[in-house]
Formats: sequence, C-alpha cells, structure tokens
Amino acid sequence: MNPSPYWNPRTETLERPALEALQLRKLRDLVEWTLARAPWQAQRIRAAGVTAESIRSLDDLRRIPFLERGDWMQTQIDDPPFGAVLAVEPELAMRYHTTSGTSGSRPLAVLDGPKDWEWIAEMWCYGFWAAGVRPPDSVFFAFGYGTFVGFWGAHYACEKIGCRVLPGGNMTTEARVRMIADTGATVVCSTPTYALRMAQEADAVGIDLRGSAVRCLVLSGEPAGSIPATKALIEERWGAIAVDTAGMTEVGTLVMYECSHQPGGPHIIEDHCVEEVIDPESGQPVGYGEQGERVVTSFGRGFIPVLRYRTRDLVCRVEASRCSCGRTFDIYDGGIRGRVDDMKVVRGTNVYPRAIEEIVRGVEGLEEFQVRLFTVDGIRDEIELLIELDDPGDDVDATLRELGRRLAEAHEGLRFGVRVAEPGSLPRFELKAKRLVDEREVWGGKGERKAM
Ligand SMILES: [Zn+2]
Repeated sequence: MNPSPYWNPRTETLERPALEALQLRKLRDLVEWTLARAPWQAQRIRAAGVTAESIRSLDDLRRIPFLERGDWMQTQIDDPPFGAVLAVEPELAMRYHTTSGTSGSRPLAVLDGPKDWEWIAEMWCYGFWAAGVRPPDSVFFAFGYGTFVGFWGAHYACEKIGCRVLPGGNMTTEARVRMIADTGATVVCSTPTYALRMAQEADAVGIDLRGSAVRCLVLSGEPAGSIPATKALIEERWGAIAVDTAGMTEVGTLVMYECSHQPGGPHIIEDHCVEEVIDPESGQPVGYGEQGERVVTSFGRGFIPVLRYRTRDLVCRVEASRCSCGRTFDIYDGGIRGRVDDMKVVRGTNVYPRAIEEIVRGVEGLEEFQVRLFTVDGIRDEIELLIELDDPGDDVDATLRELGRRLAEAHEGLRFGVRVAEPGSLPRFELKAKRLVDEREVWGGKGERKAM
C-alpha cells in the first residue's frame, strides 16, 4: 500500500515553478489536440489567433476565449443530443451522463470513454486518500446511481484504493441509515444536506450514529460542505470528521478536495486543471484572497476538450501554505461560496443563501428550512424564513425573535419574517438542495422567479 499521506506524492508536493511548468506543457498539448480534433472548440481558439506554439506562459491561457454554458447548451440544442463538442466518435464512448439539471435549466449531456473514466476515478482518489480513507475502509454511497454523474467516480476511486464499496442507491433514508449501522461502514459519501437528513432519520429510528463505525464523511454536491456551521453540525451529529469536495460534470470530474488537516476549504487538483479566478463583470483576473468566479481548464478529459469554462461558482483562492499538510496545491477558502447568480436583492440589500444558512444552522433542533421571497400588495418585496423544528418547546417565540435579530443584523437591518413550518411540510433533498424560492412578481423585466 502507498505509505505516503499523498495519493500522488510527486505532483501534490511540486514547488510552484515546477507545477506551473507541468501545467504549461499540458496546456500546449490540450490546445494542439483541440485544434486537431474538436472543430467547434478549435474555431474559437483559431479566431483568437492562438496556436500551441504561441502559448509560452500560463498567462497566454487568457488569450483563449471563455467557454460559456449557454454556448455549449446552444450547440446541444442545434445538434442534439451532445452538440458539436465531441473530439471522439460517440461510438467509442463508454457512458452517458448529464449535469444534475437542478439549476432550473435543461441538463447538459456528455460522453466519456474508458480512459476518461480511469482519470475520473484517479481524481477522486486524490480526495479520498487526502481524507484518510484507506483499505480496509468500507465506504457507503448515499447516492441514486443515475445519469447525474455525482458520486459515480467516487465509487470507482474507492474500489481502486482497495476499499469495500456499499452502493446505497434506490433506498429509503431509513434503509440507508440501517445499512450504514449494520454493515459497519467507516466512510459515508453524500451531500451535506443529506448527511443531516440521515442523522435526523437515525435519531427517529433509534440508531446511534455517533456510536457507529463511521469516522469520515466525504461531502459533495453543495457548497455547504465548507460552511462552518453546517459542517460542525454534521460532524457533531455523526461523531466523524467531514471533508468537502467539488467537481463538475462539465469539466469531467472532481477538481478539488479537502484534506484531513481541514484548512477551511479544498485544495485544487492543480496538476490536472488550471483554475483561474476572475471578476465576473470584467472577466479580468482577481488576486489571492479576493472573491471571484472560477474558470476551469481541464486536462484529463478525452471526449470533450474544456478550455476556460466559466463555472459561475464564486470562490476565494488562497495559497497552499494556508494548510499544514504539505501539499502545494492552492486552496479555495470556504470552498464554493455560492453562484454568481445566487445573490438576491431585497429592498436594496444583498442576500446570499450561504450567509442565511450559516445563521440558521445555529438553531437547536432545526430539521429543515426554506427562504421565500414574495411580493406584497403588488409592490413590496418581502423575505421570509420558514423553519421546521424537531421539538419546538416552550421558548419557540424567543428562538424566532433571536433568529430574526441575527438575520437582520447580518443584512443591514433587513427585516425577515421568521415562521415555524408544520413538521414534514418543507421539501427534503438528497441532491443539491433548493432552499431559496423566489416568487416575486416581475417588474420591469428585472425580477426572476427561478428557484435555486
Ligand atoms: Zn491540506
């Protein structure tokens, strides 16, 4: 067995100049291959006057135009089912997958071949190894194995590492919790929301997760894995450490993972991608410590070249030295902090779902919550927080008042209505929770109704 704390001891500890030289070599290869094999992507690169030879430093990456989701979707609509993005004949593909389709828009469909899947699993190995997962760990997946790519790669990674895999697809929450306890699973993979949902279910059916064999949760699929209050709650309810990971169907696989040192955010897998952080308005790069949108160039994907994909994810990059683990891969402090289009403006105040979650998770006995935006008298925007409590108790009014006070304090005095919802009345989520519902009437074409 690999005795190193690193899955890839060579690349995970490369000094920055060597790491950047490696990225530069891979970037040149990617551009060359894209120009040769992927006409749709190639015409953008060519139009910008970029050739493989003209890439002399990583800064030259910025000469390549961004790849926008809208353009990708348009080619998929024009030329279904995949659009003109494939660099390899579809007959050679091994599997079909899609994005989760939870952003309110039509999912993107992708194809990958055997080599891609080898790479996808390898990237997840970085993450599991860094979390401290080793044989003979047995890893439970609370995941509905379907077209959404989700934890598929993580499943293969655990097999590759030599763990026992427990595929918990197509099961009720109760059945999953019982299986975790009965099989002595030591690692559990799920979304942050669903990790809390399983903890509630365990309480309801009298299973003691804190006393179970589970010692690590590998979270993915939602930003909450790096929201301190949510993560602390998950760790407390499970009696295990929780690490955050994030990937993306569009870029192929996992691209960041948190190590067991838990530096407050995940490391970027920098030997397999280049992550840029830009100002979403101007498109210009922002520096370390500044929040911006992440843009990904992915080196491992064999079917679909992805250069400078605009993710719409908000991140804040900090140097690798933030972490004590010895990796030289930079870190996204606070993980994915939200989406560029997450922010809502309510009566002139900016409202971010993440900031609300950070406060709401501090409420004792919270089962689920929802934030609702609506219009009163056809003109006034209101924001309301609905909370479900497992045992409202006598001092529920005091809880609501305190919550209202803390929310207002964090939002320039904006008044939130805070109400208790009937038990079981709020939606439950297994995948990508959508807890903000915007039902405001549209004025002047500026409003939007899309749930997130
Ligand atoms: Zn680390």
